[in-house]
Amino acid sequence: MLCRAVAVELEVTKGLSKLLYSVESVYLGIVREVAAYAVEHNVTSAIQLRGLFYSKYRGEYPGLHSHLVIQAIRQASEIAKSFMERRRKGLAQKPYPEVRNVSIRFDETAWNYEQFIKSIAPVRIKLSLPNGQTEVWLRLHKRFWRYWWLVLNKEAGLRKTLIVKRRANKWYAVFVFEIKPKEGIPQSVVSFDINENTVAVGRIDIETTVDKVADWNRQYLTPQLYSIRTDFGRLARRYEKIRNTIIERLKQSFTLPNGKYANVTNTREFRKRVKRLRERVRKVGRVRYVANELTKTPAIIVTEELGDNPQESMIEDVGKDELRHRIKQTPFKALEKTVEGKALERGSKLFHVSSYRNSKVCPIHFVRLERTDDWHTLKCPLGHYVDRDYASVINMDWKLTPESWTKAFWWNMKQEMDWREYEQKSNPIIPYEIVQYIHAVLKTFVARLERCPAMLAQGDPMTRHRIQNEGGGEETSHALLGQGGGQ
Ligand SMILES: [Zn+2]
Repeated sequence: MLCRAVAVELEVTKGLSKLLYSVESVYLGIVREVAAYAVEHNVTSAIQLRGLFYSKYRGEYPGLHSHLVIQAIRQASEIAKSFMERRRKGLAQKPYPEVRNVSIRFDETAWNYEQFIKSIAPVRIKLSLPNGQTEVWLRLHKRFWRYWWLVLNKEAGLRKTLIVKRRANKWYAVFVFEIKPKEGIPQSVVSFDINENTVAVGRIDIETTVDKVADWNRQYLTPQLYSIRTDFGRLARRYEKIRNTIIERLKQSFTLPNGKYANVTNTREFRKRVKRLRERVRKVGRVRYVANELTKTPAIIVTEELGDNPQESMIEDVGKDELRHRIKQTPFKALEKTVEGKALERGSKLFHVSSYRNSKVCPIHFVRLERTDDWHTLKCPLGHYVDRDYASVINMDWKLTPESWTKAFWWNMKQEMDWREYEQKSNPIIPYEIVQYIHAVLKTFVARLERCPAMLAQGDPMTRHRIQNEGGGEETSHALLGQGGGQ
């Protein structure tokens, strides 16, 4: 089941705001107290904690809906559990979980769920607050209506628990929709690889390529290789510059008596100005754009297994500080998560392959590639150039095929691995016919490239703009596949 949380601002009068604040502070107090107790006494079961605390708080706060008390205790139990888990892993430094803010959970008895769900166009909710049932109007927006439409069509459900949350001085109701993943017949196999400024894509369209593959002289090269510009690195660099300018300007007004500067980045002024830059918003926008692009049609989406910290492993062999910073700014995980969510929503499936040597091996000759003085271009010992991104996405596709097990460059994998066993155990997502099809496509692709390997390079590295490491990229037009290929 796929979940989508949609926050809708509440129309709040002064009186109602006061009321909500008071509920929030009581609720927060309960969560804090119970969580601290749970950790100290090693009692994390919600039921046990309820037995210990319920009547106490009911007595203390008779105006608070009984189910809010129960929800607060439950929330405390969850917080305690995750805190203890973190502590076990050595990630928590403090003796108690620090609960700074809470979202108030109204279960179906504490708001008018039954009535709401029956409505065709709900515009307000009723919350059980200390002064009784209180009607609150919603500032509904397009996103909400989109999901509500799914509810009306029985393609989604609304979770019974409503979350009420404050951000700054505004109150929001968070509706959680549970969407049934679509079952789509895959129309293509799309592999992608995330880089600093681009996302490299290899696309095999299943229906339309059948005859194209047979016809060697056609303009098509399958998989189609292209890339989507994201400019995450460039974005990060630009904002870095703007931030530095702000710091310089603010420094003047934050000079200490001894002539030194206070740490400007801790000031309210700085935070206010940085917020206005909307860096995160723009990044999120680009992430969504890429996810949309990759999941347009139901597809089998193939990507590398990212570690917990993909940025770290990527910068291992990167020297410059500035570049390290930019790679850290590349939202690998966010992009992957968004693609995964969108994929499920639209009937695509995500398949992970190992990241082992994807961009280190020639996808035609299966020998180790050598570096050139251009980070993007690698050289095959058999005498041709290969674009790093292309190598990566084609090798990912190779890893879907039975042949991958016998290729020497994946020698760390068990060579005696039985394909049938593999098919059953680790590849339930991709039907065998499609695997065979991919295999055929790749073999044809390679046969064609063997005659004209230059198509795998993105131009002549001798004349291309040379920049060490990923610093370059500005001039890499991935649309260009050399003569005969692309488009
Ligand atoms: Zn080669």
